[in-house]
Amino acid sequence: MQYKVRELNLVHTWTISRGSDDVKHNVFVRFEKDGVFGIGEAAPSVRYNETPESTIETIQKAEPLFEKYDPWHFVDLGYAVKNLVPEQTAAKCALDIAVFDWITKKLQIPLHKYFGLDKTKTPFTTFSIGIDTPEKMQQKIREAKEYPKLKIKVGTGNDEEIIKAVREATDKPLCVDANEGWKTKQEALEKIKWLESMNVEFIEQPLPAALLAETRWLRERINIPIVADEAVKNAANIPPLAPAYDGINIKLMKSGGIQEALRMIGMARSLGMKIMLGCMVESSCAITAAAHISPLVDWADLDGNLLISNDPFKGVTVQKGKLILPEAPGLGIEGEF
Ligand code: MG
Repeated sequence: MQYKVRELNLVHTWTISRGSDDVKHNVFVRFEKDGVFGIGEAAPSVRYNETPESTIETIQKAEPLFEKYDPWHFVDLGYAVKNLVPEQTAAKCALDIAVFDWITKKLQIPLHKYFGLDKTKTPFTTFSIGIDTPEKMQQKIREAKEYPKLKIKVGTGNDEEIIKAVREATDKPLCVDANEGWKTKQEALEKIKWLESMNVEFIEQPLPAALLAETRWLRERINIPIVADEAVKNAANIPPLAPAYDGINIKLMKSGGIQEALRMIGMARSLGMKIMLGCMVESSCAITAAAHISPLVDWADLDGNLLISNDPFKGVTVQKGKLILPEAPGLGIEGEF
């Protein structure tokens, strides 16, 4: 197993309710066996107590499992990795993606085909407009003219100003993400009642993840679907959320990879919930992995690779907002590890 940290530069300073970044450090893994290699990526998140260092430590701990288990027995291998240490799902995700890249390269089929998915059924992806001055946000909106839907981050105290600036520049449908930025149910209710008149398709994580009863209270009083993001990482988290949220945002970095994402999709569907597939700031490696399972979901927000200026890989592309999957075997990405 090889691994390396890469510095990914953001096109624009990336601001959400928790803070700002100009650069991200993601960890890439390369697993080689029998003349074929698979590549995976981890985007460590401070929200989940992850750093590049903790990610590498987890990968090092997992390395012996790749000697012990046959990668074709990826289910056993996946559970062994999952149970190795608590959390550290970004590291686990990198390993899971690398295994699936390897398996489907061995089989000489693209990843989506392995799961029986129709590549024409990929959803449209939203494009995220980071928090900025009204002028800069309007500039970003003009740059995103190809995308039929935009995702707007709020929750930093000047929400009205932000949404007004957006609405001066575009009348496209918006998905609004508060990233736990509203602190009370009354504040969230007031904001959402106002957003209801602004052509908003759904609202993501309006309240802190821990405020489940408050979110349920909120849901009973509004007419926009609420999607859980920070409140949900894996399948086991989903049942208690069903009364409070209309849908969930699955991210491979939170779930620990594709296998747990598929379990989450099954769980959410059985509870009648909507499913969104989102991302962190990731290169085309992890974004393409997620895009391969996107025919299974209702909404996609897979734009993390479009926010960086030095993407080391090429994979999934976007045409007029729709995700276009590569046809080459495995993830189908091009680029040097
Ligand atoms: Mg979110």
